[in-house]
Amino acid sequence: MLKESCGENKTRAGQRRKEGFMRLGALEAGGTKMVCAVGNETGEIFEQISIPTETPEITMPKLIAYFKDKQVDALGIGCFGPVELDRQSPEYGHITTTPKLAWRNYDIVGAFREALGCPVGFDTDVNGSVLGEVTFGQAKGKKCVIYLTIGTGVGGGIYIDGKLLHGMLHPEAGHVLIRKKSDDAYEGKCPYHKTCLEGLAAGPAIEARWGQKAVELKDRPEVWNLEADYIAQALVGYILTLSPEMIILGGGVMHQEQLFPLIREKVTQMLGGYIQTEELADMEHYIVPASLHDDQGIMGCLELARREKAGCA
Ligand code: ADP
Ligand code: ZN
Repeated sequence: MLKESCGENKTRAGQRRKEGFMRLGALEAGGTKMVCAVGNETGEIFEQISIPTETPEITMPKLIAYFKDKQVDALGIGCFGPVELDRQSPEYGHITTTPKLAWRNYDIVGAFREALGCPVGFDTDVNGSVLGEVTFGQAKGKKCVIYLTIGTGVGGGIYIDGKLLHGMLHPEAGHVLIRKKSDDAYEGKCPYHKTCLEGLAAGPAIEARWGQKAVELKDRPEVWNLEADYIAQALVGYILTLSPEMIILGGGVMHQEQLFPLIREKVTQMLGGYIQTEELADMEHYIVPASLHDDQGIMGCLELARREKAGCA
């Protein structure tokens, strides 16, 4: 079946289907590891490997060698950021002001285009994840979806009407400002804002506040109550601004599944009945964990590749 969000010529796509599926490369470029995969436009993954993220000089030749062998029709990259997504900019496809200094201003798209000679789709890692969920997962058919990852940092990907939201740069939803609870003595970890969502609620903030790794604090209700409060504050802001039909929460911290009911309850409380929709009345299906067994990011990269190849990114 043809993907409806794309204006691809039907005859050509049909012929290609008869000949077989595309071979698509997917790269989830993270600050600690690079996940590389080969699959097709149905989301099937044939093979996958992970390579540590070192400097471009060390890591890029390994990535290029992996994909060169595979003869992919297109590559999709979901990348740690900030990144330049404006196709009119000379810096399009670069990783820009990242704190990972070796990768600062690195032209990752250009490097792959030159080495592989194929179309290269490019977006943020979290936009890749939301695209994976909308294309292959539980958010299929929805028009407006947010994916928020809460891990070492906090990042948000936003899908609206068939497209990933970029705007002037791309969303930085992890840095929305949060009202700190009066009984929280922790000053906040973000070097730019201290008490933004990332500064108060990412894994390293939990560890700094409580003096133990988040995973070791599982049985401390006060930890997760506070965490849920901060996450809920941010979600309420996103709900009121973007009116998403579904909010997907992923990342290491969300492995603490007890957070989900707490967050749902607090979001309902904080909204105060101001908006009433079918979605908000069914919180269990509104604020949800990722549905693709941690493959939402890499599967989204397959779709980034497909869209680039089809010219409908
Ligand atoms: P990254 O954000 O680096 O891609 P993760 O999403 O795994 O990776 O996030 C790592 C962070 O999540 C760490 O700060 C870690 O403490 C926290 N974390 C990982 N697993 C768990 C868990 N089971 N429970 C709570 N926190 C966790
Ligand atoms: Zn911040």
